[in-house]
Amino acid sequence: MTNATNTADTIDWKTLRDDFPVLSRQVHGKPLVYLDSANTAQKPRQVIDITDAFYREHNANISRSVHTLGMEATEAYEAARKKIAAFLNIRADELVLTSGTTQAINLVAYSFALPRLKPGDAILLTRMEHHANIVPWQLIAERTGATIRVAEITADGELDIAALRTQMTPEVKILGLTQVSNVLGTVNPVAEICREARRRGIATVIDGSQAVPHRPVDITAIGCDFYAFTGHKMLGPTGTGGLWARREHLEAMPPFFGGGEMIREVRFEKTVFNDPPHKFEAGTPNIAGVIGLGAAVDYLSAIGMANIEAREQALLAYATEKLAQIPGLRIFGAAKEKAAVISFLVDGAHAHDLATLLDLDGIAVRSGHHCAHPLMQHFGVAATCRASLAFYNTFDEIDRLVAGIAKARTLLG
Ligand code: PLP
Repeated sequence: MTNATNTADTIDWKTLRDDFPVLSRQVHGKPLVYLDSANTAQKPRQVIDITDAFYREHNANISRSVHTLGMEATEAYEAARKKIAAFLNIRADELVLTSGTTQAINLVAYSFALPRLKPGDAILLTRMEHHANIVPWQLIAERTGATIRVAEITADGELDIAALRTQMTPEVKILGLTQVSNVLGTVNPVAEICREARRRGIATVIDGSQAVPHRPVDITAIGCDFYAFTGHKMLGPTGTGGLWARREHLEAMPPFFGGGEMIREVRFEKTVFNDPPHKFEAGTPNIAGVIGLGAAVDYLSAIGMANIEAREQALLAYATEKLAQIPGLRIFGAAKEKAAVISFLVDGAHAHDLATLLDLDGIAVRSGHHCAHPLMQHFGVAATCRASLAFYNTFDEIDRLVAGIAKARTLLG
């Protein structure tokens, strides 16, 4: 491990790789090149070990037992909540722990939007949203009579901000916006857009899934109403994540799920709910997972998010330059501010065929629609290949990708 006083230039990134056991495995007899971190990130042993230790040494349910194990589990769980909140510059009592972004956005949709929206209202979404920030809104629109409007993108894959401004009309009650596109890598100016939306009384729901793992994120500075993120893309276990919401919203919103943990008193005549965030956390959560997510936050903080961003930007610049030299390769997304996600297609090669051939070389890229059908429709393609980078990737691995694509082209051509 390193510490945040280091800079991206002085950190020994190659040694950090040793923290990730899976990165040393072979696939089809070749050293694994994992370029699918936007899908899910690999886990360092610090996260794996703490999760393992929880089950070996402390396992108990939280918030209900006075015995030692129960109190240890509760303490570790709530300590992780505090760590995650500090990492994102929010209050711990405004952080609802969820199974990830999908559950977080559904919570906003059903608990905040469903009781408020009515016929004539509109929900504004961008062309580059993941299905997790589209489908819940369609379900709510259907039930309330609200309509969905789409904010379009430019040829470079940036949001058309001027057009977006004109679309923020009085009917628009909610704006759903990703901070970083999982397909194009586009980084959206969320603080500026949230400021504008707030002036017009539009509630903003930011999908931070691809931002939190790759750059410093200060949710309070963004000034949104809701911010969703997912733990497994930020080195944490699957089935973890959270929703931050303004206190006034959390207090006004009815619970989404009912059950144990989220109540103060239950009578058949009437139930009194617990305070936020517990009001929204019915049932036994992923206790070991959240504790693991706390360790992931410690790990990321020790490196420093600004260092991670700088490292990934260097990898992105190198990969973009090398890939652009491959004849017939088209990159989707050329935003001025872009995260280390490169979607591409090669003339004459289907994305799945290319990904399958790369896998035979030990190289893992994702192929498909990336849960972004409307974006695929915009570009007129069914699928792309996507290489998504993390700080644990190396320049040599990018060379392997480039060589792998060149080899695949000759086989497919
Ligand atoms: N939003 C974006 C931008 C994503 O990339 C993803 C995951 O692929 C999600 C939402 C959904 O995250 P989860 O499946 O962890 O809820």
